[in-house]
Amino acid sequence: MELIDQHDRIATDLRVSLTDRCNLRCQYCMPAEGLEWMPTDQTLTDDELVRLISIGVEHLGITDVRFTGGEPLLRKGLPGLISATKAMTLRDGSGSPRTAMTSNGLGLKRTAKALAEAGLDRVNISLDTTDAEVFARITRRDRWQDVVDGLAAAQDAGLGPVKVNAVLLREHNETEGPALLRWCMERDYELRFIEQMPLDAQHGWSRAQMITADETLGLISEEFTLTPLEGRGSAPAEKFLVDDGPHTVGIIGSVTRPFCGDCNRVRLTADGQILNCLFARDESDLRAPLRDGASDLEIAERWAAAMMTKLPGHGINDPSFLQSSRPMSAIGG
Ligand code: SAM
Ligand code: SF4
Repeated sequence: MELIDQHDRIATDLRVSLTDRCNLRCQYCMPAEGLEWMPTDQTLTDDELVRLISIGVEHLGITDVRFTGGEPLLRKGLPGLISATKAMTLRDGSGSPRTAMTSNGLGLKRTAKALAEAGLDRVNISLDTTDAEVFARITRRDRWQDVVDGLAAAQDAGLGPVKVNAVLLREHNETEGPALLRWCMERDYELRFIEQMPLDAQHGWSRAQMITADETLGLISEEFTLTPLEGRGSAPAEKFLVDDGPHTVGIIGSVTRPFCGDCNRVRLTADGQILNCLFARDESDLRAPLRDGASDLEIAERWAAAMMTKLPGHGINDPSFLQSSRPMSAIGG
């Protein structure tokens, strides 16, 4: 069985949201007061998560598992979840899944080494600015130095190539592109700019305010020579060589340069729902069958069926687009 959809795309990359909670309040993600968090009884336990991940890996051909959230570092059982995932065998018997984490980096200074030892292969850390005050305005928390320390610890622990995810926001960090790129290159971090998407809990996204991939590239090109790199495959980022290399920069233009035709991702939320797209409005519940004693095969069949409704594209640019009621922090970015 495979996670194939009606458009012949096969999902092999599983994004697992470990919690919808977070210790930052990024303006493009959630409101200052936070959100009504998922009730504990609806959140999958570590054992339940491991079971679903293993069904994905061992029955359905998942090869890559990324832990995200909310903030995955807030999940106490994270090292155990990583080591249990790394102990799984790929369906073709060729080894274990590749593991990654997308995190805001808070607390990573303390935990990076243990996570690497547990089997985490690499990390993406979100950092939108080189300026601590701008960081505090965007995230509503004065924690810039903690993220910077977390990045360094990840590098030291061998969780590389360390990638930095940045979202540019009008009137906050809109001109920061070149400075952020220089800062990342000096530290050997691979920077990727993500276009702001309509996924915030407060539904405040506006096309007019969004900084497009073209605008970002234009600004960076004023200071650096960018050469497009071939071979993007199913990766969301278009990559460019910076000056003569070796550093690269990525642009994830989800809104203005969608890459849905090559999508190989599927998402499992912390409350056990399968989302076949970041923008899907329909969810498929795996928690109920899991708790009702369904077999691995029954759950795998239900998961595979959920892929069949995957739409050809996210539709953000269609006049009829409706934002999902589930915010990014509860889907898993
Ligand atoms: N808390 C972790 C973090 O911030 O890296 C993981 C979860 S977060 C939802 C995953 C990624 O989504 C982050 O890189 C974040 O910057 C990005 N993100 C959040 N809201 C977004 C939005 N509305 N548009 C684009 N990217 C967004
Ligand atoms: Fe938290 Fe990540 Fe959302 Fe920022 S983007 S509020 S760090 S979940």
